[in-house]
Amino acid sequence: MAEYEDTFEKVMELAKRRGFVWPSSEIYGSVAGFIDYGPLGAMLKRRIENIWRHFYVVQEGYYEIECPTVGIEPIYVASGHVGGFSDKMFQCPNCREYLRADHAAEALGIPHAGTMSKEELKEVLKGKECPACGKKMGDVEVFDFNLMFTTSIGPGGQRKGYLRPETAQGMFVDFGRLLRFYRDHLPFGAVQIGKSYRNEISPRQGMIRLREFTQAEAEIFVHPNEKDHPQFSRYANYAMPLCGIAQQEKDAPAIVKTMREAVDEGIIANEYVAYYVAMTHDILTTVGFNPDKIRFRQHMPDERAHYATDCWDAEAFSDRFGWVEIVGIADRTNYDLKAHSRVSGEKNTVFVQYSEPKKVHHKAIIPNFGKMGPVFRGKAKAVAEAMTTAEPAEDGIHLKLDGEEILVSPEMYTVKDEMVDVFGEDVMPHVIEPSYGIDRICYMVLEHAYAEDNADGEKRTVMRFKPGVAPIQVAVLPLMARDGLDTLAKKIVEELQDEGIQAEYDDAGAIGRRYRRQDEVGTPYCITVDYDSLENMTVTLRERDSMKQVRGRYEDFVNVIPRLIKGKVEFSENML
Ligand code: AMP
Repeated sequence: MAEYEDTFEKVMELAKRRGFVWPSSEIYGSVAGFIDYGPLGAMLKRRIENIWRHFYVVQEGYYEIECPTVGIEPIYVASGHVGGFSDKMFQCPNCREYLRADHAAEALGIPHAGTMSKEELKEVLKGKECPACGKKMGDVEVFDFNLMFTTSIGPGGQRKGYLRPETAQGMFVDFGRLLRFYRDHLPFGAVQIGKSYRNEISPRQGMIRLREFTQAEAEIFVHPNEKDHPQFSRYANYAMPLCGIAQQEKDAPAIVKTMREAVDEGIIANEYVAYYVAMTHDILTTVGFNPDKIRFRQHMPDERAHYATDCWDAEAFSDRFGWVEIVGIADRTNYDLKAHSRVSGEKNTVFVQYSEPKKVHHKAIIPNFGKMGPVFRGKAKAVAEAMTTAEPAEDGIHLKLDGEEILVSPEMYTVKDEMVDVFGEDVMPHVIEPSYGIDRICYMVLEHAYAEDNADGEKRTVMRFKPGVAPIQVAVLPLMARDGLDTLAKKIVEELQDEGIQAEYDDAGAIGRRYRRQDEVGTPYCITVDYDSLENMTVTLRERDSMKQVRGRYEDFVNVIPRLIKGKVEFSENML
């Protein structure tokens, strides 16, 4: 067997050979940052996305929407991507390779390179070895490179378009429509799973940094002063290691806290953020991340977006890449809705009713039409209407009507102080955003599932996928491809398929070989049909990880398998 440097190489070799992930357009030489999901990879990815949907759409009730991946310019002007969605880049004077300046500095062991200015990066890179060619560089010029792919819409390139760099903007742009869909009530949320595009400078990290990747994002719109999650009790006692700002400042290890403690002690800003931190942990372990290789790290104030009040990254540990950001969870305040309101003119507010009407002082302006009529004639009514919301000055009320400056003198109206009932107010919601990178999740699921052990005295490679994400869920193996064993095996496959199970029939080669083949692609269960099966309709069910086998009536297995895959039943002698 070939020698591999680390798990990354082993996983990628297996992924290519067994049809999980391939370099894209390989016959034309491929280009970095694009991948193809093969048959098993696409299935794995879909299952992961569906688990994500289960949490956000089914459990939380945040409906999924689907917006175009091509966006018109105003969206990305408003969001700030046209102006500032860039990475700092330089070109090696020797090999002419373009490189990300902060990554090159980090590779040289310089801390906090991600928050350095262009000038600071230029200074630290000066005279150092190029990470690509290894030759010493003299002075390098560090400049901004906007990561958005541009395109043009319509013939003749009349309108500029951008490939979306995140799915989030769709939910912000559709805010008014969503608000009506949710019957004008806060809180509500919407999610989107789909492709995003970033023209990454030098993507060399396999599935971790891509130029086309899948995001799953939720935007949860909440009242700015009500950040207690209505279902917080679900995760209040959920405990996990947290690397808060204070821990990082002290260089101390993560501390285990429940979400209740984290909020009460001010480590996490509010219940909404804490709830989605816990739910993210729940999702990542459900899809198969090793819990010992997950941590939650809070953004330091200098790395956090200026408008965000709190931001946490779920990070997962990879043998090759160290701690990698997988999910970002942020309280983005009203930054996005405000930005789109400014550019589009939409209000982007919600009328929130008070529990009881409030009595407030109100200055009522009562027009004296007898005095106004001769002065304003046909316009008197329009002037009177405009006066109702105006603030009187000493010399009268100054108005602008159809571009004309008008002064309504004090004898034309009286001001009456009165108490009125106010029933509510317009508020611009705040946004809580959990943002997941699905390809990074797929990679970590592959890496964390990869294992080597011994089976029947020989080494086996096994993908220990959670049954809920395994691409093939059951393999049905007739001992021989004859004597009716094949017919019964095919019948079992059909019955499993009827239950919605991805079952595969395989009669090629010795039974041990067939187990190994299924182990290597992570099939959690194999059913073996032998000569006894023809007598009494019993078969064996083999579990991938323990390699234990249980014998029983095949119909009972068809019944129990869906529950085994959902994790509702444990594999054991007594499961039937
Ligand atoms: P961001 O909007 O940069 O916070 O990204 C949100 C999530 O998308 C990250 O946590 C990553 O999991 C994922 N992501 C961002 N950039 C890439 C990329 N170039 N390739 C793959 N996934 C990415």
